[in-house]
Amino acid sequence: MDMGIRGKKALVCASSKGLGKGCAAALAAEGVDLVLNARGAEALEATAAELRDTYGVTVTAVAADITTEEGRKKVLDAAGPVDILVTNAGGPPPGTWTDWNRDDFIAALDANMLTPIALMQACVPGMMDRGWGRVVNITSQSVKAPIAVLGLSNSARAGLTGFVAGTSRQVAGKGVVINNLLPGIHATDRADSLDGGAAKAQGISLDEARARRAKTIPAGRYGTAEEFGATCAFLCSQHAGYMIGQNVLLDGGANNQTM
Ligand code: NAP
Repeated sequence: MDMGIRGKKALVCASSKGLGKGCAAALAAEGVDLVLNARGAEALEATAAELRDTYGVTVTAVAADITTEEGRKKVLDAAGPVDILVTNAGGPPPGTWTDWNRDDFIAALDANMLTPIALMQACVPGMMDRGWGRVVNITSQSVKAPIAVLGLSNSARAGLTGFVAGTSRQVAGKGVVINNLLPGIHATDRADSLDGGAAKAQGISLDEARARRAKTIPAGRYGTAEEFGATCAFLCSQHAGYMIGQNVLLDGGANNQTM
């Protein structure tokens, strides 16, 4: 299926690795020019070169911490007007509800709620003026069903989800489509780090922790960044114009829900 977005420009945040990279690659495969971002310049430049060489699109790489005001300014100044915005950042650390203090919550809210909101506030008005835009926020399955050790993530992402629910309906009439993409477990560095914690806590190997977790997923395996990216590209496509404010779960069936 032709996504109908060749020649558009996308800002994909936190995209040198993992799910962000998967989204960037899928958009590049559709002929979308990219602005990529991550903090570490080396991996970012390597990803930018890979996508440029593979897909022949224009790729601008901006090394910056997207969760800071200064970092966002650097990225947004380099990007200029964009047609597509994919928001993403690292997830908060796991822990126990009694341990988190105000600073921990502020950091999580900054990274996983206020950063995507600030990016939408910066990019969506231009999309509305031009009569076309797509926003995909990478959130988490924890929006649908809480993950106890990720209370900081549960809290921040619930706040973002509420914002998107209202805002997506305010901008839809101007051709701007905002949706959230909710990863369940995908094989990325983030999953390795969470599995590493579980392995340590249970006194088992990383492979054993992975195998135990995969058994809890009806699909019997972890998702891939490529599958995730393909869904992101669809949400950014011409075909998603009537899909407003949805929370699309990609979890291999892990969340046992009727809807
Ligand atoms: P990942 O493999 O660890 O990749 C994270 C990417 O984001 C890297 O490119 C990293 O590069 C960049 N990044 C992290 N913090 C950043 C920041 N402050 N500013 C700019 N770039 C930043 O993570 P992932 O698995 O793709 O996860 C992406 C998001 O999905 C996270 O919020 C995660 O919590 C959520 N999620 C993931 C899963 C999963 O199973 N993978 C499940 C549910 C939710 P640098 O480190 O160089 O900045």
